[in-house]
Amino acid sequence: MKTALITGGARGIGLATAKGLVEMGWKVAILDRDVEALETAGQEVETVTQIAADVSRPEDVARAVAEITEDFGRLDGLVNNAGVADFGPIRETTFERWRRVMETNLDGPFLMTQAFTDLLAADGGGAVVNITSISGLRASTLRVAYGTSKAALAQLTLQQAAELGEIGIRVNAVAPGPVATKLAMAVHSPEIIAAYHDALPLNRYGKEEEIASAINFLLSDKASFITGQILAADGGFEATGIGLPALRADAAKE
Ligand code: NAD
Repeated sequence: MKTALITGGARGIGLATAKGLVEMGWKVAILDRDVEALETAGQEVETVTQIAADVSRPEDVARAVAEITEDFGRLDGLVNNAGVADFGPIRETTFERWRRVMETNLDGPFLMTQAFTDLLAADGGGAVVNITSISGLRASTLRVAYGTSKAALAQLTLQQAAELGEIGIRVNAVAPGPVATKLAMAVHSPEIIAAYHDALPLNRYGKEEEIASAINFLLSDKASFITGQILAADGGFEATGIGLPALRADAAKE
């Protein structure tokens, strides 16, 4: 049976990914630092293994390796999904706020993938999916820490793919567009929500399950020759430049 570990798996995109993998017949562990959310998720998906840990703490990461080794004895998929968002102007982004974003969004995927490399390499090699963001593909105001952390994670994905391919590990990333999770709703004001609708060809927010299916495709053997790619699951945001709302308004008049 295939096995996977999903960080930040207690809610949102991570939990949807876990549910999708369970449906695909995989044995799944979710890791999260929010113990209460972890327990609720465990009640929702009874078969899931829970690991209370913080991806930015090397000692927690080492304990997660020990727990997965004991419980699963192997690992086929690792999803580095745990993330935090903090939107603020450059002059108000203190070093503490910058570090808080970097330690989860960038240090976490570095530490986790490094620590799980041996387990992933065993049995012919597994797959890693890093969750970046459209904010890492395009710059925007207020995202100095968040956007930079996600752009760096995209480059980390390429570095990991280049080096770990040799031992059979595929590494890809999914860059989600806006999804109405707890993380997004904490930083998306009504104005930002309206602006996203305007800027997206599909004219709506995505659903957790729509991001999960892209992640789970990249984890699966269906993607066996794909590595080093950043797949945007973003309603078309990345594909378009300025002018979409104006063109839509013109088309509506005709
Ligand atoms: P969410 O807040 O619902 O879930 C994130 C989970 O990660 C939470 O359960 C949280 O407790 C956990 N977490 C945070 N820091 C952690 C740490 N250091 N160690 C362990 N667990 C930690 O958010 P979500 O929207 O489901 O986000 C999942 C990922 O998708 C994030 O990386 C986020 O940046 C990315 N993303 C989200 C959106 C969106 O619009 N929701 C868009 C682009 C990218």
